[in-house]
Amino acid sequence: MLFADIIVNISHENLDKTFQYKVPSALEGTVSVGDYVEIPFGKGDRIINGYILNLTEEAAYDPAKQKEIRAIIKEGDPVESKLLKLADWMHRTYGSTMITALKTVLPVKKKVRALEKRTIVLKLTEEEAAEKLQLFKKKHQTARERILQALIEEKELDYRLVTTKLNISAATLRLLAEQGVLSIEQERVYRNMKLDAERTVKPELNTEQREIADQILSDIQRDHAQTYLIRGITGSGKTEIYMEIIEAVVASGRAAIVLIPEIALTYQTVLRFIKRFGDRVSTLHSKLSEGERYDQFERARKGEIDVMIGPRSALFTPFGNLGLIVIDEEHEPTYKSDTMPKYHARDVAIELAKMHHASLILGSATPSVSSYYEAVHGNYKLFTLDKRAKEAKLPDVTIADLREELKAGNRSIFSRKLREQIEERLDKDEQVMLFLNRRGYAGFITCRSCGHVIKCPHCDVSLSEHKGGRLVCHYCGYERASVTECPECHSKLIGGMRAGTQQIEEQIKKCFPQARVLRMDADTTRSKDSYEQILSAFANREADILVGTQMIVKGHDFPYVTLVGILAADLSLYANDYRASERTFQLLTQAAGRAGRGGIKGDVVIQTYNPENYSIIHAAAQDYEGFYREEISYRELMSYPPCAHMLAILVESMQEDTASDYALHLAAYLKNDIINMIGPAEATVKKISDVYRQVLYIKSGDLGELRRIKDQAEQYTDAHPIAKGRVTFDFDPLYGY
Ligand code: ADP
Ligand code: ZN
Ligand code: ZN
Repeated sequence: MLFADIIVNISHENLDKTFQYKVPSALEGTVSVGDYVEIPFGKGDRIINGYILNLTEEAAYDPAKQKEIRAIIKEGDPVESKLLKLADWMHRTYGSTMITALKTVLPVKKKVRALEKRTIVLKLTEEEAAEKLQLFKKKHQTARERILQALIEEKELDYRLVTTKLNISAATLRLLAEQGVLSIEQERVYRNMKLDAERTVKPELNTEQREIADQILSDIQRDHAQTYLIRGITGSGKTEIYMEIIEAVVASGRAAIVLIPEIALTYQTVLRFIKRFGDRVSTLHSKLSEGERYDQFERARKGEIDVMIGPRSALFTPFGNLGLIVIDEEHEPTYKSDTMPKYHARDVAIELAKMHHASLILGSATPSVSSYYEAVHGNYKLFTLDKRAKEAKLPDVTIADLREELKAGNRSIFSRKLREQIEERLDKDEQVMLFLNRRGYAGFITCRSCGHVIKCPHCDVSLSEHKGGRLVCHYCGYERASVTECPECHSKLIGGMRAGTQQIEEQIKKCFPQARVLRMDADTTRSKDSYEQILSAFANREADILVGTQMIVKGHDFPYVTLVGILAADLSLYANDYRASERTFQLLTQAAGRAGRGGIKGDVVIQTYNPENYSIIHAAAQDYEGFYREEISYRELMSYPPCAHMLAILVESMQEDTASDYALHLAAYLKNDIINMIGPAEATVKKISDVYRQVLYIKSGDLGELRRIKDQAEQYTDAHPIAKGRVTFDFDPLYGY
């Protein structure tokens, strides 16, 4: 007799396990894993649907009590069964329940209102529009100016794009409609903005770009699908190459998925793709509701679109015939999921590409050391682009040694060189970006008499002081009023060490009172769309200086930015994990890449206390190879990924003793087989939101061995569930725990 383990269609039910059913003899030869079947369910034998995840001859419980499958609705829809297979692979590879893996991979069906298709159409002639634009400019009505400018360029715009990506409020649109500037047209299918004509206007690829595109296309034509890594500096024309290849792939009847970090999913980027692929492209982003996501996935399933752009979850777009996956900015940490299954989009993309015989292109100005390692070892085909596509010149980079500044009596946060350069830019009416790789007032509040530090009561981290004197926990969001005296010794000498974006903003205002300053960090971008608003305002030259955290490194092109200042380049070097140098190098290189993108040459000033550090030196020289060589010899020496592999096992519990006892027992259980175990130990942040955390690390040259250890650990945790907690796994973690 044959039994089927069925997972109830998770789109309807939130049931966290499989149920076993008898396969009726009539169906025995025909069922297979992945089939979508009809089953009687619950007391009333309500008929519902589910997927067959497993077929077995062993009954999980008394066969006499088991119900039978009623019918096969759909034989393993090839798309669905590929996604099921992918979920199964993720569940086995990264360690998580099958349901969690399925939920990650299959979209949840929710009842949604039909999407309103609204289009905004320009109602003015060219001359009228130009006149109106001047008027809005004069009156500093920047939102109106922005929408009109876009309409002059595009004639028609999708309503949702305008409200979400251009940040134009519904009220502004209504007002402009009343003035007869534009009209909002309902129920019109989104025809994508006079793009048909424009679609043919694409830049001719230059020789270097052409060569890369041709090689990849010829592999694709010969069905030699493989993985490529394009290392190309910012502005070298990688996106144009992607689009060229996507176009050919789409023309051959296959679909493409393009991953970009959420933060780079700006109106500009999306528009470039829309211009090229019209309404055959769709985007995903975290602000879509589940229903909206489902809708976009349905369009892909029905073959209404060919290209999906989005963050890592866009990988799960149910395309029937996937031909290409592109991962842009492939070094970005956001491609790694931080919840179970803790997968890396790159690895999942490789697996998915294998299933579809599709090609995978990774692109970055500063590839992850892991990907470059694969390329150097011949596992990925490597291409390099060292020139900017347009005639823009590379910036001049200067390192300012902050120790010398101190010696010279300069205690300000600006080196003399940087201050000089900022003044020059302000005089010339050019723009400046100042970059700090930290957020908020970095400083914690500490008592200078007794050394007491004010910490979050729920997390083992110090609170940071924000404007208005609030103290905030960056892990759980806990807030409290600041203190004027030490709760331990009652000294009044208590205060914060200040070196955050907010404080820099204040310093700038003091030093350069004539400058208009915008600040972008986690605090100013908390509300919906504020990120885009700040960037649009800066792009519209509503400010001279933009100061911010790594967020400002991505996204928009700012042709008037001719100076980038990196205020404290070494801050990210002190992170407690082996990727600190890599991250520092990437941040600095990418930040430097923002300077001088128009016709004007740019300058970059890197301020540091560590001018001899190799990640800083190589970033200043924009020398990826040099950095990679030093970094990889360090990884080799220390057996860190990618030269070896690492598994982090995180043990969490609400009870401190449980966490540490459990971690000890688990370690002892595993230890028989493992030599290379570190810990268990308290995690760097030993408590988050009242959950205590213990971590153990296992290193091995053999990833397969680590997977086996993970399986053993899972067996252990299944047999001995941890009280008030959980155990999770992370392979080659990006950050230390
Ligand atoms: P990357 O993705 O490497 O940052 P992009 O593809 O965005 O580079 O190109 C940078 C800029 O140069 C864009 O404005 C793009 O339109 C332009 N560009 C790229 N390739 C060419 C080309 N062959 N001819 C003219 N302009 C180009
Ligand atoms: Zn004190
Ligand atoms: Zn907290």
